[in-house]
Amino acid sequence: MSDSGNRADVRPSQHDHCPECGTAVAGQWVSYRQNPDNPATLISHFGGIVTTGPAEPPPPTIPKPSVRDLEYPGDLGVFFHPSCAPRIKLPERTQDEIGKLLAEMIVASYERTIARWARVGQPSPGEGDPPRFRAQVASIQTRRVFTMTRDEWKRVRAHEGRLIELDIERTLADGVASAASAIARLAAECSVHTERIEVWRYSETARPRPETLEDYLVLENFARRLNLPMFLERTSTLDSPSLRKHLRDHVFLVKERPDQGRWEPKTRMHERIVFLKV
Ligand SMILES: [Zn+2]
Repeated sequence: MSDSGNRADVRPSQHDHCPECGTAVAGQWVSYRQNPDNPATLISHFGGIVTTGPAEPPPPTIPKPSVRDLEYPGDLGVFFHPSCAPRIKLPERTQDEIGKLLAEMIVASYERTIARWARVGQPSPGEGDPPRFRAQVASIQTRRVFTMTRDEWKRVRAHEGRLIELDIERTLADGVASAASAIARLAAECSVHTERIEVWRYSETARPRPETLEDYLVLENFARRLNLPMFLERTSTLDSPSLRKHLRDHVFLVKERPDQGRWEPKTRMHERIVFLKV
């Protein structure tokens, strides 16, 4: 183990909110991460007072009534208050046992994904055209951010597990839509998402496999859980009623893992996909 080199840059910013209680993480904190040198190994980081940036109000001292078990992968890479941090069920917290536990969690997650997708029938191309929906997409700091109106998302949701076609336009580079995408991209780092979906790009010749799925975080009505002035500042965005309305009226799907290499959306694309709620 040589995680001491990484330890220095693992610390919450003023934008990090504890996913369990939703308040800022400023004093003591706990964060679990995968060891980049050995992804089957878990590293626990514990830290003290954060001195960078203006402080937010301290978290309430009411202890959480129940602490749950650590979940993979949602609980990795975020900052918890020590009293909110999910529990790692281990008799002794030796590094080897933590590593073994994470390996088991990854395998269990992989098997759950296979079981989930086994229930999805192979869409046959002879069934006629799949229903079509409209979305916009931007690439912001190596992650794709899809935007849909809340009504459109509601219609899409009704087709979970079935083949749909997305009619995708590139988000205009300036203006409210682009600024809102940048805020959603940043907010996705703070565990303010409401759910996670797996997306499979349809192929006539292949079946969905865990390694070909893409995970997206769904941010719906999330702005009220943000310290919005701080997010506006970080994304160099001017506050306006139209921006707030755009954030309220749309759902943002942020790709969980960064794109490898540069990806730029075309002006217009059509993609056939199947998605499942995780
Ligand atoms: Zn908390």
